[in-house]
Amino acid sequence: MATDTDSLFQPKEAFRRTAHVQSLEEYQRLYRQSLEAPDAFWGEQARQLTWFHPPESIREVNEQAADFAWFVGGKLNVTVNCVDRHAKARPDKAAILWAKNTPGEYETVTFRDLAHHVNRLANVLKAHGVRKGDRVIVYLPMIPELVYSLLACARIGAVHSVVFAGFSADSLRERVLDSGAKVVITANEGPRGPKSVATKAITDEALEGLSQVTSVLVARRTPREVPMREGRDHWLDVEVQKHRGVCPAEWMDAEDPLFILYTSGSTGKPKGVLHTTGGYLVYANTTFRYIFDTQPDDVHFCTADVGWVTGHSYLVYGPLSTGTTTVLFESTPTWPDASRLWQVVDDLKATTLYTAPTALRSLIKEGDAFVKKSSRKSLRLLGSVGEPINPEVWRWFHDVVGEGRCPVVDTWWQTETGGILIAPLPGATPAKPGSATLPFFGVEPVLVDEEGRKLEGNGVSGNLCLARSWPGQARTLYGHHSRFVETYYARFLPLYFTGDGCRRDEDGYYWITGRVDDVLNVSGHRLGTAEVESALVAHEAVAEAAVVGFPHDLKGTGVCAFVTVKPDFVRTPDEKMVGTLREQVRHVIGPIATPDRVVLVSGLPKTRSGKILRRMLRKIAGGETENLGDASTLADPAVLDELLTKGLPPD
Ligand code: ATP
Ligand code: MG
Repeated sequence: MATDTDSLFQPKEAFRRTAHVQSLEEYQRLYRQSLEAPDAFWGEQARQLTWFHPPESIREVNEQAADFAWFVGGKLNVTVNCVDRHAKARPDKAAILWAKNTPGEYETVTFRDLAHHVNRLANVLKAHGVRKGDRVIVYLPMIPELVYSLLACARIGAVHSVVFAGFSADSLRERVLDSGAKVVITANEGPRGPKSVATKAITDEALEGLSQVTSVLVARRTPREVPMREGRDHWLDVEVQKHRGVCPAEWMDAEDPLFILYTSGSTGKPKGVLHTTGGYLVYANTTFRYIFDTQPDDVHFCTADVGWVTGHSYLVYGPLSTGTTTVLFESTPTWPDASRLWQVVDDLKATTLYTAPTALRSLIKEGDAFVKKSSRKSLRLLGSVGEPINPEVWRWFHDVVGEGRCPVVDTWWQTETGGILIAPLPGATPAKPGSATLPFFGVEPVLVDEEGRKLEGNGVSGNLCLARSWPGQARTLYGHHSRFVETYYARFLPLYFTGDGCRRDEDGYYWITGRVDDVLNVSGHRLGTAEVESALVAHEAVAEAAVVGFPHDLKGTGVCAFVTVKPDFVRTPDEKMVGTLREQVRHVIGPIATPDRVVLVSGLPKTRSGKILRRMLRKIAGGETENLGDASTLADPAVLDELLTKGLPPD
């Protein structure tokens, strides 16, 4: 099958010279050591953190029971690591650079300020009855109080659960109930782009008739007044005035819970993924240091919302635990126009930029001029996460955004993994566009066939599993351990099953081919969605593509491609475009993958984190008009009408 394996991008010389790991050989040596002597490797990484009491043993692992403990006996507090030690060493250094929704408006929070805000808010939470182990729901837009809230919970040992401030009242309610939280932190409203999310009104609706929640703390983002319920609702700015900026850090056991995060729901009912304190923080810290190759004056710009795990690990905990300045971006990449990200990069002199293929594709569509009018000379590294990055999109990121100067790290991981598992080390690993490349230290990917037989050697394709525990792995699904066992361990015990399909090429590089549930079986050939989609996106006319299977009399499964075209090509007659695109796939992959149907649409259905909802498209292509899944996960429900008009089978 035609792929992109022929192009290798060597680490940039200028970058390599100051990198933590400077050659492929050095990576390989460290990687081998991390597998041969994991206790020594992870013990060393744990020493990067400040512990009240050091761990007594590194790990206790029982795959049969899906029971994992790391840094056993260790006592620590996340905020000592993310706040106190930096506030002491470099109090005036910027911890957070807040890029507000209005272009050109910024605010700086130093580590000294951060300590003050976190401690005061921790005292507020205590005053509202929050104790160690209690859950707190955080339903906030991208404002500094969001970061303070996470850290305030961690300060006193409460378990935070952030719900993306774009989720509906129903989704919020479901998460409040599942987590059993009695305190919710929200804002009066959350400006985002040209709109504003009515976070407080949505919270009120979500909590209707629920006595479980006794306090709602409301951050005042704008002057707008909102109804406040007597006895339950409190303005946060008033509450913090009642407390001092000093609150002792709770001694937490390494295995005490740090947070619950509900996954985005691309594949079904949200799961409350639980992460614990020591292992998670060591893992976020270690991966951030190596993969983003931290340097003392870095300004890290992660465009993800803190409502997703990417925001947890690589906007909050990874950066702050390493004392790195982190950017908190309240707006969207395309508001007021497609130059916004680059404007923020220039204004804040961002050095590392971490974003998602969906954002990149939306910017590519608008043309290069928006990028080129910015300087971007502060940037030294680019990162991608969330979906397979199409090689064409990778190249644009590398050539146009990074001007060929910045390494690109394509990072594969999941909410459940806590941190990145497969990614290049930017000073060491030659990159291949579209491949997440090689495993991180201590991570052992295994490919298995449908019967669970291990596929040895290179040039193989199968179900992506992981053979050993790593510190950042989720410990359970909150309150549903049997579902945890069922979802991740039952199928290929003792392996952890990721749910993703993957190919290991002749050089041992990993290529995520898409979710296993989405794999197409055409006349006995297995096709990954990512391969076919990337073949389409490689065509100059294509902005985005989503490929699904549908029942086909002869082939078993037919291939249906939903495609959005770039503005310059919308005038091309449909039949011509469809013919061109079928030919494109035939040419790039082969006749077997040629789409039986190409449906040209103006938008694809996506989750609120920007991932394509193939599950919904598969149903439509198969002729279903009902039970299309939980439409509340759809970022833009308006796309559904067009899909139903154009996407259903012809007769
Ligand atoms: P749910 O599990 O609720 O269905 P989700 O899987 O979309 O939602 P996340 O944990 O945010 O929730 O996403 C992890 C998934 O995203 C991975 O399993 C993989 O399918 C995809 N993914 C993330 N990063 C990459 C990447 N760099 N390359 C390819 N796929 C990626
Ligand atoms: Mg998932």
